[in-house]
Amino acid sequence: MAGTGLRIGQGYDVHRLVEGRRLILGGVDIPWEKGLLGHSDADVLIHAIMDALLGAAGLGDIGKAFPDNDPALENISSVVLLDRTMALLNEAGYRVVNVDATIVAQRPKLAPYLPAMRALLARHMGVAEGCVNVKATTEEHLGFTGDGSGMAAQAVALLEQMEKGWQK
Ligand code: MG
Repeated sequence: MAGTGLRIGQGYDVHRLVEGRRLILGGVDIPWEKGLLGHSDADVLIHAIMDALLGAAGLGDIGKAFPDNDPALENISSVVLLDRTMALLNEAGYRVVNVDATIVAQRPKLAPYLPAMRALLARHMGVAEGCVNVKATTEEHLGFTGDGSGMAAQAVALLEQMEKGWQK
């Protein structure tokens, strides 16, 4: 069934790096001396992608959909939040065309983990791996990402609005 229109969205997120937390990026556990601090598992990459998806669909943002003062969401896996975001998108009649994202972090080296993130994200967004791209960059020791006090992520998402009943 033909789509009825394309919609673009962007997302941006930041979390502080602290000792005593797991580092989870794109749903992948990464061995590291610090992890990201947040109400959920603080997966900064998935949060940026969710904001891009919600933005493209005109559904507000992650804070509106999943309030960070909701006790039910404490330490929740962001993969679960991504699944719930996809359910909202499906309900509104959107499917993902493609997503491109960048993690900004000085350390650790993330290149070895990017293929696993890509595969996991594609599976949960219901698209082929070729429709998801995850990159990582440093900021050359500048600013809060450069001095290791936090990580940031940016994402853009393209959605296609489908005719009613496209899934049936
Ligand atoms: Mg966040």
